[in-house]
Amino acid sequence: MLVVQKYGGTSVETTEKILKIAEKIAQDYDRGDKIVVVVSAMGKTTNYLINLLDQVNPNANSREYDMIASTGEQISIALMASALSRYGKKSVSLTGFQAGIDTDSTYSRAALKRVYRGKLMSLIDDGIIPVVAGFQGISPSGDITTLGRGGSDTTAVAVAYGIGADLCEIYTDVDGVYAADPRYVDKPKKIDKISYDEMIEMAAHGAKVLHLRSVELARRYHVKLVVKHAHMKSEGTIIEEVGRLEEPLVRSLTVDEGIVKIVIEDVPDIPGIAAKTFKQLSDRHVSLDMIVQSMHRDGKNDIAFTVSKEEFKDALEAVNHVKEEIKAGNIHSDDTMAKISIVGVNIIGSSEIVYNMFDAIASIGVNIDMISTSNSRISCVIKREKLREVAKVVSKRFGLEE
Ligand code: ASP
Ligand code: MG
Repeated sequence: MLVVQKYGGTSVETTEKILKIAEKIAQDYDRGDKIVVVVSAMGKTTNYLINLLDQVNPNANSREYDMIASTGEQISIALMASALSRYGKKSVSLTGFQAGIDTDSTYSRAALKRVYRGKLMSLIDDGIIPVVAGFQGISPSGDITTLGRGGSDTTAVAVAYGIGADLCEIYTDVDGVYAADPRYVDKPKKIDKISYDEMIEMAAHGAKVLHLRSVELARRYHVKLVVKHAHMKSEGTIIEEVGRLEEPLVRSLTVDEGIVKIVIEDVPDIPGIAAKTFKQLSDRHVSLDMIVQSMHRDGKNDIAFTVSKEEFKDALEAVNHVKEEIKAGNIHSDDTMAKISIVGVNIIGSSEIVYNMFDAIASIGVNIDMISTSNSRISCVIKREKLREVAKVVSKRFGLEE
């Protein structure tokens, strides 16, 4: 089998862990697998590097951000390749550029353009294990780019697609994908197999196991993914195209504490107001989540929406910019909220599931502030202080615990 094995920051945070992983890779190699390894920076190295840059200049440009942030992975690849050779394997470390990973020139969140097959395959054919730096690539002008925080998962999927691998294994510090975050729910069930669509909804609404872009890429190019524990034997969770189930089913629960709600009060109920407002947000590339417009009397509405904490500053600036023009009343924001979502198959087709979600939350007297839905998800915004309690009743109601 031709496999890409990706190891995340916590799995390679010490040299001891790197040696243990190298030993495992060497065993897989001896069993006959052809392997490309992708690694992240050791532990919290990337945070440390970004912090250094901040100390020198909080407004450093994003080309320099990429230049420094990408170095963490360069440490890991040299250590991993050297650890592999200690276990008797031929191995070569490669930066994104050396591996042939082309991106556009959007520093700090570059989009992948292509991964060249030739270099990696010729190494593999010579019995060498290439160790590729995650998270980084090269722009058309030859500058180093990075793919956004957590981007090594995306590198792994892109490499798997580029070389036509049979499988992309993501090794991490949990032994797969769970029906809920164990920090909120006592004993969540482990999921053996899940569809790309469900995994995308989970990643987009708070699950931290996989980088959202990596799953989107895997779905687009049919790359089979497995999430596994780096230091324990386990089957992990398979993410692939699952035949369409008709039966509505709730499979998991995710929570997101990183949201802020912005409310624009008393805007005139006339055509074009929402367009003008959201044009400003679009110009600033703010990604939105829930949008609610509530009817008022006297020809006025409230418009409320949520954004991630990281994008809050840009979002508020956008709204203030358009405030006069749309003749809005007050603008206020609320950072005491959190989002809880259930994800599964054909969820919104079942009013029973919808009812049970709302009833579970009502059963402990918690108010639902905003609601959004998709075919495979229902999300509710509630007070953050109630999140733990709500996660417990909702997971009980849908049998997500063991
Ligand atoms: N080292 C990078 C980060 O911390 C990329 C990754 O770990 O996936 O965001
Ligand atoms: Mg990661």
